[in-house]
Amino acid sequence: MAATETGIAVGPELDKPYEPSQVEPRWAREWEQRGYFHAQDVSDRPPYCIVLPPPNVTGSLHLGHALTATIEDALTRWKRMSGFNALWQPGIDHAGIATQLVVERELLRTERKSRHDLGRAEFIRRVWQWKDQYGSRIAQQHRALGASLDWERERFTMDEHSSRAVREAFVRLYQEGLLYRSERLIHWCVKDRTALSDLEVEHEEHAQAELYKFAYPLADGSGEIVVATTRPETMLGDTAVAVHPDDPRYKAMIGKLVKHPLLDRTIPIIADAELVDPKFGTGAVKVTPAHSFEDFEAGKRNRLPMINILNLDGTLNENAGRFKGQDRIAARPAIKAALKELGLERGSEMHHLALGRCQRCEGVVEPLLSKQWFVKTKPLADPVIEAVEAGRIRFVPEQWKAELFRWLRNIHDWCVSRQLWWGHQIPAWYCEYGHVTVARETPRECETCHSGRLTQDPDVLDTWFSSGLWPFSTLGWPDDTPALRTFYPNSVMETGFDILFFWVARMAMLGLHFTGEVPFRVVFLHAMVRDKHGEKMSKTRGNVIDPLDLTAKYGADALRFTLASMAGQGRDIKLDEKRIEGYRAFANKIWNAARFVLRSADGYDPDRPAPPASVYDRWILSRFQRCADETRQAMEELRLNDAANGIYRFVWGELCDWAIELSKPALYGDRSPAERAGTQAALLQSLEGALRLLHPFMPFVTEEVWQRLPKRSFHAPSIMIERYPAPDSLLDPRAEAEMDALVRAIDGARSLRGEVNLPPNQAVPLVLVPRDGAAQRLFEAHRQAFSRLANASEVQVLAPGAPRPRQAAAHVEPEVEVHRRPKWSRRTAPARQSWKRNGTS
Ligand SMILES: [Zn+2]
Ligand SMILES: [Zn+2]
Repeated sequence: MAATETGIAVGPELDKPYEPSQVEPRWAREWEQRGYFHAQDVSDRPPYCIVLPPPNVTGSLHLGHALTATIEDALTRWKRMSGFNALWQPGIDHAGIATQLVVERELLRTERKSRHDLGRAEFIRRVWQWKDQYGSRIAQQHRALGASLDWERERFTMDEHSSRAVREAFVRLYQEGLLYRSERLIHWCVKDRTALSDLEVEHEEHAQAELYKFAYPLADGSGEIVVATTRPETMLGDTAVAVHPDDPRYKAMIGKLVKHPLLDRTIPIIADAELVDPKFGTGAVKVTPAHSFEDFEAGKRNRLPMINILNLDGTLNENAGRFKGQDRIAARPAIKAALKELGLERGSEMHHLALGRCQRCEGVVEPLLSKQWFVKTKPLADPVIEAVEAGRIRFVPEQWKAELFRWLRNIHDWCVSRQLWWGHQIPAWYCEYGHVTVARETPRECETCHSGRLTQDPDVLDTWFSSGLWPFSTLGWPDDTPALRTFYPNSVMETGFDILFFWVARMAMLGLHFTGEVPFRVVFLHAMVRDKHGEKMSKTRGNVIDPLDLTAKYGADALRFTLASMAGQGRDIKLDEKRIEGYRAFANKIWNAARFVLRSADGYDPDRPAPPASVYDRWILSRFQRCADETRQAMEELRLNDAANGIYRFVWGELCDWAIELSKPALYGDRSPAERAGTQAALLQSLEGALRLLHPFMPFVTEEVWQRLPKRSFHAPSIMIERYPAPDSLLDPRAEAEMDALVRAIDGARSLRGEVNLPPNQAVPLVLVPRDGAAQRLFEAHRQAFSRLANASEVQVLAPGAPRPRQAAAHVEPEVEVHRRPKWSRRTAPARQSWKRNGTS
C-alpha cells in the first residue's frame, strides 16, 4: 500500500487488474468524512438542489432506487464540480401502511400478538424501535453506491421538524376552507381496514364478468321490473330502481314502488337520465348509493336514503337482514340462491367490468360511505396548471405535461385520513358535543364550548401528505431559514413517472400554495428498469435483479454507468447483465490506460505541459475538447445517456484504441525530446480531463486513478471537488479531419483482413491509391502509423489515379482506396508505367 500526498492509503497496485471492492468502500467513507457532500446554507456560489425521493423506511435498495441515485448523483457531482453550491437532500419516508404491516407481521410471528393486544402507544413505540434498528439500511446502501447526499441534513418524514410542518400545513388548509371533514363515499380496503385515495386503487379489467338479472315485483302486484347488475349482493342496500325518463318500456312505472324480495321494505322506481343508459342490460338498474360512486351521485340528486350494508371488515351488517355476518363475497351466491328460490332470477350475460383493487394488498376495494378528511383540490390544482402552462415548471420528457394536465383537470378531492396508527395523527380534537377543534398544539379546551374533555381524531394522514411538503419542509419550512432561501425552489425534481400524480403533482400543489413559488423548476421523469427481455421485474415472475448482487460482482461504478448509459429519456431500460460486465471491463480499461501513460510520465511538468508536437497530439486534445463540450451540453439537457456514451466512445474508442497506440513511437521510439514531451503531455492531459468528465458517472475508479496522476501545484485534494472540464481552445478541425481520414482508412484495411479471414497477427502488404495530391501527402506522412495499426508488412502509397492492383480485395473511402496486394503478385508494376498501359482503357 502506497500513500498519496492527501494522506489516504492507495489501494490496489496499478499492475494488477482493477478491483472495485478494494477501492469503493474506502473512497465512499473518505469523501463523506472530509465533508465533500455538505452544501452551505449561504454561499457566493450559485445554488443547485435536488431532493431525493425519500425511500420507504421499510425499503431495501432496488434497481429503481439505484437508477434514481445514479441520475441524481451524476447531476449533483457535475454541478458541484462546475462551481455550484450543490445540495442533494436525503430523507426517509415513514411509509404509513407499509411499515405498520411489517411491524404487525413481526409482532405476530415473534409474540403471537396483534397491535390491538399492545395498544396504540406501545405499538407506536415498537415501530420506532423497529425504525431505529432497520431504518438506516437503505441509507447505507446508498452510501455504497457513492451517493453524495448531504447526510448531515438527513430527514425523516416523522421527525420533529417534519411533524411540525405537517401540522402547520393541515391547520392552514383547514382555516382556509381547503380541508374539511365529511361523510362521503370513499375507497375502503377491507384487508388493511383503511380508507384509500383514488390513486391507491388499481383498476383490474375483466372482459367476462357476469351481468346478473333479477326481477323486483311491483308492490301493487301489477307486474315486475327486471334489473341487471354485476354485484347482486349489494341489492340489500338498494334504495331505488332507476330507468331512463324517455324509455317507453318503463314510462308508466315511474313513481311506482317495488317490494324488496329479501327485506321488509319498498323502494321507488325513479327516472334518472344521467345514471341510466337504456341500452345497458335491461334498461333498468338498481341504485345502491352507499356502495357505488355513480349511485352515490344519483342518490344525492334524487334524495334517496343511503343504506350502508357493510361492516369495516367486509362482512354484512344488521341492515342485511338474515345475511348479517356473512362476508360480502361469500354472500353473493347466497343472495342469488335466495332470488332463484323466489323465482325472481332472470338469467345473465357476460359483460365488461373494472374491479378496484388495493394497490398494496391487492384486496378488492369497497366503495363505502364514511366520515373522512378531504383536501379540496381544485383551488390547489388550478395554479399548478397555470405554472406549467407558463413554463415555470418544465417537464422532461415533455409528454408528461399532458398526463399531468389530464389528471389535474379531472381532479377529485383528496381523502387524506387513514385508519392506521403509524403516521401523523390528525391534529383535530372533538368534544362530547361533536365540536371540532383543529390546532397546531394540543388544545386544552374545545374552541366552541370550552369543554375540557377532548379526544384527538384517531386517524393518521396519508403518507403522501407529508411527502408533498418535502421540497420545502426539508429546508426548514414553515420557518424562514437560510437553507430555504438558498435552495427553494429546488433545481430538478427527478423521479419515476409512476408517482407523477401521487407525489409530483401534490408537491406542486402544496408548494405553490404554501410558498407562492413553484417547488422545482424542472421535473425529470425516468423510465422503468426491466429485465433483459423487457419484462417488468416482479417477485411472481422471479426475474427481480438485486442491485446489491450486481455491485458485489461488478462494482458500483459499473452498475451506475450501465444505468446512466441506458437512461434515455422516456425509454425503459432493459437490463442485461452482459452490459454491466462490459462496463466493468471499461473500468479496467481506464486502469490499464493509466498504467501505460504513467509508465512514460517521467519528466512531465503539469504546471508547464509541453505543447503538442504532432497531429496525433493536436487530434486527441481536440477530440477531448469536443467530448467535453458535448458532455456539458448533454448534461444541461438532461441527456445523461448521451453524456455517458460520448465519454465512453472518447475514452475507449479514441484515447485507448488510437491515441495510446499512435503515441508509442514518440514515447519509446527514436523521436526528438520535444516530440516525446508533446505526446506525453497530450496523453496525460486528455486522460486527466476524461477522468473529470467521467467522474459523475463512475466516481470511484476515476478518483483512484486521478490520485495517481501528476498534478498541477494548485489542485484540489480530490477529483470530486476539482473543476469540471470547461470550454477551452483545444479544438483543431484540421487535425480532426486529417485523423478522421487516416482512422477510416485503417479501419478499412482491418475490415479487408476480416473479409478474407486473415489471422489478426499475420501482416499483409497493402497498396493505397489516394484520390488527389493532398490525400497522397497525407498517407505518405502517416505511412508508418498506418503500417503499424493496420498490421501491414509493407504499405505502398501510389500516385493519385494510379491503376489499381488487379484482382485485389479493396476498401474504398472518399480519400483513398485500400488494396491488399494479391498473393501471386509480388509487386505491382511501377505506377507511371501501369497508368500508361491502362490509362486509355
Ligand atoms: Zn389493502
Ligand atoms: Zn365543544
